[in-house]
Amino acid sequence: MITGPSGVGKGSLISLLRHRIPELELSTSATTRSPRTGEQQGVDYHFLDQDEFLEKVAAGEFLEHAAYSGNHYGTLRSEVEGRVAAGHPVVLEIEVQGARQVAESMPEATQIFIAPPELAALKQRLEGRGTDSPEAIGRRLEVAEEELAARDEFHHVVVNDELEAALDELEAIVRGKLSQSDQ
Ligand code: ADP
Ligand code: 5GP
Repeated sequence: MITGPSGVGKGSLISLLRHRIPELELSTSATTRSPRTGEQQGVDYHFLDQDEFLEKVAAGEFLEHAAYSGNHYGTLRSEVEGRVAAGHPVVLEIEVQGARQVAESMPEATQIFIAPPELAALKQRLEGRGTDSPEAIGRRLEVAEEELAARDEFHHVVVNDELEAALDELEAIVRGKLSQSDQ
């Protein structure tokens, strides 16, 4: 499970990691956030309206869920449980509140927190990514300070300063876990 503040590079690192370790399967999250340009239903997220999301919460369909920056986000059990039971490695990319819930309910999951070299890098990266309004970036940065304070709750902290170096570190952690699971 990979967590850390918005803009730190979780999505970039996971996508590169999956090129290096193709057997990794990515859980597609559900969200009430509107799709960004180019995002596809069922690929980037399961985009749900508020009622649909809350119905699934009530029906116990989420492994974890959280309110983040004015929207709901959650991991559907159907994305994870069957794959784990079949022995497939699954990656979750989630914010900190959800990560805490997974740490509680699936203590066997490897927890990796991606941290920025400094807080200012998050603002630069979110602005550079160009997907969020200035208001949305402001909200994400407000939450980021709290999220960064939680870094030591997780098994591993990878600082994403130089992308390649962070990717190497992440790969080593994940390969270590996969080789344990093979035994
Ligand atoms: P997250 O998924 O954590 O919100 P992204 O993967 O979307 O973050 O990265 C946010 C922006 O920062 C993207 O534009 C990405 O290209 C850039 N980025 C990611 N890692 C680095 C890095 N090590 N150095 C500089 N920019 C980076
Ligand atoms: P974004 O809107 O940038 O796609 O995602 C915002 C935040 O929500 C990111 O930190 C992302 O990791 C997190 N997120 C994405 N999917 C989930 C999920 O299923 N559960 C939780 N708790 N957070 C998620």
